[in-house]
Amino acid sequence: MSIQTVNPNTNKIVKSFEEMTEKAVDAKVAKAHLAYINWKETSYQQRADLLHKVAKLMRIKKSELAKTITLEMGKLLSEAEGEIDLSADIIDYYADNAEGFLADKVLDPEHGEAIIRNSPIGVLLGVMPWNFPYYQVARFAAPNIMVGNTILLKHASIVPQCAAAIEKLFEEAKAPEGLYTNLFITGKHASALVSDKRIKGVSLTGSEEAGASIAMEAGKHLKKVVLELGGNDVFIILEDADMEKTVEWAVVGRMNNNGQCCIASKRFIAVEAIADEFIQKFKDKLSKMKVGDPMDPATDLGPLSSEAAAVHLADQVKRSVDEGAKVLLGGKRADREGAFMEPTILTDLKPSIAAYHEELFGPVASFYVVKDDQAAIDLANDSNYGLGGSVFTQDIQRGRRIADQIDTGMVFINHPTWTQADLPFGGTKHSGFGRELSELGIQEFVNKKLIRVS
Ligand code: NAP
Repeated sequence: MSIQTVNPNTNKIVKSFEEMTEKAVDAKVAKAHLAYINWKETSYQQRADLLHKVAKLMRIKKSELAKTITLEMGKLLSEAEGEIDLSADIIDYYADNAEGFLADKVLDPEHGEAIIRNSPIGVLLGVMPWNFPYYQVARFAAPNIMVGNTILLKHASIVPQCAAAIEKLFEEAKAPEGLYTNLFITGKHASALVSDKRIKGVSLTGSEEAGASIAMEAGKHLKKVVLELGGNDVFIILEDADMEKTVEWAVVGRMNNNGQCCIASKRFIAVEAIADEFIQKFKDKLSKMKVGDPMDPATDLGPLSSEAAAVHLADQVKRSVDEGAKVLLGGKRADREGAFMEPTILTDLKPSIAAYHEELFGPVASFYVVKDDQAAIDLANDSNYGLGGSVFTQDIQRGRRIADQIDTGMVFINHPTWTQADLPFGGTKHSGFGRELSELGIQEFVNKKLIRVS
């Protein structure tokens, strides 16, 4: 059984799900296509009414939905509740703003009259990861449902109960059959589905390997694709940073979601003048984190999403140490059952060491000391990834100058990289292409049709 709920707090199997047959999936694609034929004719008001119902149901069921997230992938229950709120906000945001974002654009051509009209394109396939099971789906599905497209969703195999619950929210909101469909299929099956003529575009959030596999299929079949992949974000601390606040944000930036955010602060880069003070305070806070059951409100750090994820992270740390990295804190699996890893800080990193280049998806911080701003920028850009990054300084102009030179899709000043409905999200280089959220996120899967009158 590849589609399963396994509680990472205990590593015990909770529930298994049958994979859908190709025939069953084909019938679901047909229904999604039929739903599109009707949905594209609905008004923005009808679409918004449906999405507002979905967001309302999500808020009503927040506690139950959040518990399922924590059970399946181990995030702290309070963070899971926050994720439900954020997801409902994103759905409402698109319900309220899509009509304005998609309004006709009147052009002023040399001859005649012309407009650009935003039309839907058809059935879309979403392939989503487990780390934010509701948020990832909300930021893909809500804008596209407002466009008039319909959604097939292949969720990560370790969050099947979340996947089924999202589909149920649409059913309870009385969405037409086929508007939003959950597919219990493997990644391989999802890649193969891209060739289906009824599917017009695909959006994947996940690893580089999965992204490349989907993009290859999409390229072969000439389909539009959006990819949100991994990251190795920097957290730069300049000598004039407000140290107390900066250290607080460093802990949140690295440890939010038990360290498993694509936009987590992963590489901490301090200028020499304050490096010792920062690392001492940062280490002190991480060493006091209470590791334990994510359902317990007293816990600060829960498990990784799965035993496989914990084994992989511990292996990355071990390889890095073998290659010369030093462990300032932690460095091992936590001494208890479940998919746990100790809060960890690695130092003495250089390009020949695994942790210098690889994304560490868990509670492991990499620490670097540099002599000045330019060295911080050079180190930040010495990465295949280009997702986000942050700079901590009280000189905002200096922060902006550094932000300009960091080669990523997002840079935050005096805050770790973050997300909200009205800010665009996405990366460059191996972190993918395309944007989600904000006005930009709704423009990815539309036909920008020119209509010209002579
Ligand atoms: P993953 O293995 O790539 O899984 C993500 C999704 O892709 C899952 O639904 C997975 O299905 C599917 N998948 C896996 N292999 C596939 C293939 N060959 N073809 C098609 N689909 C495939 O990712 P993960 O390791 O679980 O998630 C963590 C990664 O996601 C990290 O690198 C993280 O940085 C990135 N991420 C990026 C963002 C962003 O917005 N940029 C946000 C969150 C996470 P199965 O579960 O069935 O394998």
